[in-house]
Amino acid sequence: MLDNQNVAIIGGGIIGLSIAFYLLKSGKTNITIIERGKVASESSHTNAGAIWPNRAIEPLSLREFASYSLTLFQELMVKDKLEFEFRKNGLIELVYRKEDVAERYSQIEEAKKAGYDISFLEPEKVSELEPEVNQEIEGALYSPNDANASSSLLASELMSRLGQAKISVLENTEVEGINVANRRITELITSKGVVTPDLVVNAAGPWSPSIGNMLSLKIPVEPAKGYILSTAERQPLKITRAISDGDVVVTQQPDGRILIGGTVEFLGFDKAVDPEKVDEIKSKASRMVPHISDLKITEERAALRPHSVDRLPIIGSSNRFHNLIYATGHFRRGFELAPATGKIVAEIIEGKNPSVDITSMNPVRFNL
Ligand SMILES: Cc1cc2nc3c(=O)[nH]c(=O)nc-3n(C[C@H](O)[C@H](O)[C@H](O)COP(=O)(O)OP(=O)(O)OC[C@H]3O[C@@H](n4cnc5c(N)ncnc54)[C@H](O)[C@@H]3O)c2cc1C
Repeated sequence: MLDNQNVAIIGGGIIGLSIAFYLLKSGKTNITIIERGKVASESSHTNAGAIWPNRAIEPLSLREFASYSLTLFQELMVKDKLEFEFRKNGLIELVYRKEDVAERYSQIEEAKKAGYDISFLEPEKVSELEPEVNQEIEGALYSPNDANASSSLLASELMSRLGQAKISVLENTEVEGINVANRRITELITSKGVVTPDLVVNAAGPWSPSIGNMLSLKIPVEPAKGYILSTAERQPLKITRAISDGDVVVTQQPDGRILIGGTVEFLGFDKAVDPEKVDEIKSKASRMVPHISDLKITEERAALRPHSVDRLPIIGSSNRFHNLIYATGHFRRGFELAPATGKIVAEIIEGKNPSVDITSMNPVRFNL
C-alpha cells in the first residue's frame, strides 16, 4: 500500500499495539489506533506473560509462528532495547498421575519430531531444579528454552515508542458503526467522530465479533474468562521457572511477587471475580508449590481471552472486504504471539510475503 494511506487499528490491546509498532518500524506513520478504554487494560494487562513455543499440547500448526515470535521478543529486547522483564527461564509442567506418564512420553516424542525442545524430567530432577515444587509428582515436561515476560510492560514500552513517533492513539473512543461502499470500508463511526481509513485492522480481541456484526460478518470468537492472582509481599526469589499443572501457572516475578494465572470459563462477558474460583486456583497453585498456601493473595483479577472456535488465531486479509485485515482469536497465547502477529500484519499491509506461513490462520477458513 502507499505510504500516505491511513491504517486504522480497532483495539489497543497487545495485538493492536504490536501491529502499530511493526508498521512504524517499517517506516509507516499514518496509523490510528482506536481504543474504547485505555490501551492494554483488558487481558493484555491481566495475563501470565508466558511465551511457550515448546509447550507440547498446543496446536502443532502454531509451532513455527510461535518460535518466530520468540525470536522477535529477543530482538525487541536486544535490538529495540525495550524493557519488559523478558527471561528465558523455561517451563516445567507437572505430571501428578502415574497413568498419565506414558501418554506424556508419546506426546513428547511427537513434539520432538516436529522440532520442539522438550524432555521428560524424573521427580528427583524436578526437585533439583526447583526445590520449592511439590515432590509428590510422577515427573514433568520440561522446555528449558521457553520464556516469560510482562505484557503490561511491553505494552507501555510500545506505547512510548508510538508516542515518540506521534502515532495517533485515540483512547476512550469506541467504534460504534461502519460505513461501506463497493465492499470497502469507507468510514468508522466512533463515539468521538468519524475516522476515514484506507485500511482497517480488526484487533478488538474478544469483542472482534461485534466489529464483525457491523459488517454482517460472523466472527467465531468468544470470550474465555481467566484469572490472575498475585501476592503483594516481595517473596525471596525461590522459583526460577514457570511451573504449571496444565491449567494454572505459577511464576515468580523479578520483583519477588508470585503470580498465579489460569483456568478457562465460558461465561460471556462476565469479568466478576468469583471467590470460589479464586480458592480453587490458589489450591491448585499450592499443590504445585506448597509454600504458596501460607501466602496472602492481595490482587485478584479476571479478564477475557479471545477464543476462536478452532483455537487458532484469525490473521490475514478478508475475502469479503477489500480493505479489512483480521488479527484476533489468539485465545491463551495473545501475548506470546503478539510480535509475530504485529510483524506479519505489517508485512501484509506493505504488500510483502509473510515471513512465516500463516495458512492455518487464514480468515478465509470462516469465509470472513
Ligand atoms: C488470566 C489470563 C492469563 C493469560 N496468560 C497468557 C500468557 O501467559 N501468555 C499469553 O500469550 N497469553 C495469555 N493470555 C491471553 C492474552 O492475554 C490474550 O490472548 C491477549 O491479551 C489478547 O490481546 P488482544 O489485543 O487481542 O485483545 P485485548 O487485550 O482484549 O484488546 C482488545 C481491545 O479492543 C478494544 N475494543 C473492543 N471493542 C472496541 C470497539 N468497538 N472500539 C474500540 N476498541 C474496542 C478493547 O477495549 C480492548 O482493549 C492470558 C489471558 C488471561 C485472561
